[in-house]
Amino acid sequence: MAEENKFHPAAMCPPSSMISVEDAVNLVLSITKRLEPVTVPLHEALGLILATDLQAPDPLPPYPASMKDGFAVVAADGPGDYPVVAESRAGNDAEGVVVSPGTVAYITTGGPVPDGADAVVQVENTQEIERSSEGMKRVRILTGVSKGHDIRPVGYDIEKGTVVLRSGEKIGAAEIGLLATIGIIMVKVYPRPTISVLSTGDELVDPSSHSLGRGQIRDSNRAMLLAACAQEQCKVCDLGIVRDEKEDLENMLDKAISVGADVILSSGGVSMGDKDLVKILLEKRGTTHFNRVLMKPGKPLTFATIDIAATETQPEKKILAFGLPGNPVSCLVCFHLMAIPAIRCLAGWRDPKPCRVNACISEPIRLDPFRPEFHRATVWWEQDNGSGNPGFVAASTGHQVSSRLLSMKSATALLELPVGNTILTAGTMVRALLISDISYMNAFQKSVSKECQSSGGQSARGHYQTTEDSSKAENGDKEIKVAILTVSDTVASGAGPDRSGPRAVSVVNSASEGLGGARVVATAAVHDAVDAIQECIQRWSDHDKVDLILTTGGTGFTPRDVTPEATKPLLHKEAPGLVQVMLQESLKVTKTAVLSRAVAGIRGSTLIINMPGNPNAVAECMDALMPALPHALRQLRGDKKEKHPRHVPHADSKPADVWEVSYSMASNHSKDCSCSH
Ligand code: AMP
Ligand code: MG
Repeated sequence: MAEENKFHPAAMCPPSSMISVEDAVNLVLSITKRLEPVTVPLHEALGLILATDLQAPDPLPPYPASMKDGFAVVAADGPGDYPVVAESRAGNDAEGVVVSPGTVAYITTGGPVPDGADAVVQVENTQEIERSSEGMKRVRILTGVSKGHDIRPVGYDIEKGTVVLRSGEKIGAAEIGLLATIGIIMVKVYPRPTISVLSTGDELVDPSSHSLGRGQIRDSNRAMLLAACAQEQCKVCDLGIVRDEKEDLENMLDKAISVGADVILSSGGVSMGDKDLVKILLEKRGTTHFNRVLMKPGKPLTFATIDIAATETQPEKKILAFGLPGNPVSCLVCFHLMAIPAIRCLAGWRDPKPCRVNACISEPIRLDPFRPEFHRATVWWEQDNGSGNPGFVAASTGHQVSSRLLSMKSATALLELPVGNTILTAGTMVRALLISDISYMNAFQKSVSKECQSSGGQSARGHYQTTEDSSKAENGDKEIKVAILTVSDTVASGAGPDRSGPRAVSVVNSASEGLGGARVVATAAVHDAVDAIQECIQRWSDHDKVDLILTTGGTGFTPRDVTPEATKPLLHKEAPGLVQVMLQESLKVTKTAVLSRAVAGIRGSTLIINMPGNPNAVAECMDALMPALPHALRQLRGDKKEKHPRHVPHADSKPADVWEVSYSMASNHSKDCSCSH
């Protein structure tokens, strides 16, 4: 009974023991020691950290070498016709030949410059001429050169004794080349750490399981952690799934130790449930340094060390054990924040902490009031990142719940967000901790943004890109440009996925032909705030010259519903017929449709329609509008010019009072809106 109590997690982990992320990482690093260096063949050294300084044993080039294909000459001779007395090709020297004044030698790039010659004239500055009467090759030198011209003297690239690589440098392709150049074929490096990975949980089954029993889920963490370790160049040992039983866990820990692991990564079983036994086991078998970290996601995170006594074959060692949280997102975020610095430290990295950059967020993000958040985001480079200068932009990966691995997909950074009760507005500069190579996503993000404009995918969150494109009017005036604005606190703060916006995008796309070639050129999600909504609408209408703006959400009776209030003052002409048709259609589905306060109308040459927030209702309303929309859009475009002249943009056409309202919004440029610029 006493032992059972000891294994009850709640007893040993009061909330007050929470440690900050920074302190936790520092603690991990203060305990972690570099592994003992090993010597490996050159071809195995790629990606590892050098454990010694390396000097060049001889100079490069080892002889004066030509930089060009041409002729080795005596510089003082100058232009003129000369006999070619020898040929010196790279690897096939004219050994023993002397270029005396009045003669030249043919030479190729890298070829040793023959004795007597002191310059090279490139072949482009020479001319072939007839052989001499004795049959000797001759050449006309067209330009004069100074002494030493186009010759790499001995040691020009690397002087003898130069330290070409220092201990602590990472070995990449260029470093492998350097090592080969100085004749190093065995390299002293810090070894790859060995990591044992296991998943814990009675609910887990192998990913290969086709059918899941009640309460079962496939184990995603193990495959994910194994891959993450492989990316970090580690040797990995897959220990499989372990049941939430004390004995099974003990056995597995023994196995993890016996395979010679430097690090043990387990996932699950570190929280507050009665079957969360991992942290208890680590406490029992080693020294626990912390088991709760003040962070979101990932609060339950145990870090322990297990001391292994020396054996005949192995010196004593300290195994680092990370009891990572079971929720997949928390698991991977904790891996990045805590395990990677430790792994890199073992592998000899001098500064193992992740790289950080500053990035402007592309849409508003609500802060967590209690815990610093590591918000998953895709980071890429823009010529104008929203600050008016070139820099990184960060777009949230969407709904951030810790079980939703999709929020980790395509995440190249964790935005380090402070605790707060506010919403960070779009354009706010935050610190982004890079968690993967961004070069792929940098390019991919732009193509995804474009795809999402035509497919309605959720990731059309790169609004900078989206609206930038929309203003370019790639297809001239022919296509109908549509912009979709999701008005929702939940979506804009990242607390929930956007369903209506993408639905509206796909509805427009499937009706594209009927609408005369309509294309969604911009999407945005803003809070239920009048200025944020107006800013987007004005930008799309006045700057981007969008033909049709569909808003979705915020038309009901709750105190936060203000979409009609935001839209109405911007309209130059109302179009109540459109609203009536939508109402009729919606009433067929639900009587509460009568509560819609939606408005529709024209601003400049843009038609703006408030749609309901429900994704299905968006589709139904679009269906209802379809018979009239193409005609409306054609008229706004000014087709049949003599009868229906194109509407002048509102700046030129509106009475001063309305324009002032618009102008003050635009100049204020509140950053609540996630659309660009
Ligand atoms: P735990 O920390 O064990 O309480 O797990 C927290 C949540 O993460 C539970 O919903 C588990 O089902 C889930 N979980 C734990 N381990 C894994 C895993 N290896 N793969 C996927 N989900 C997991
Ligand atoms: Mg569990």
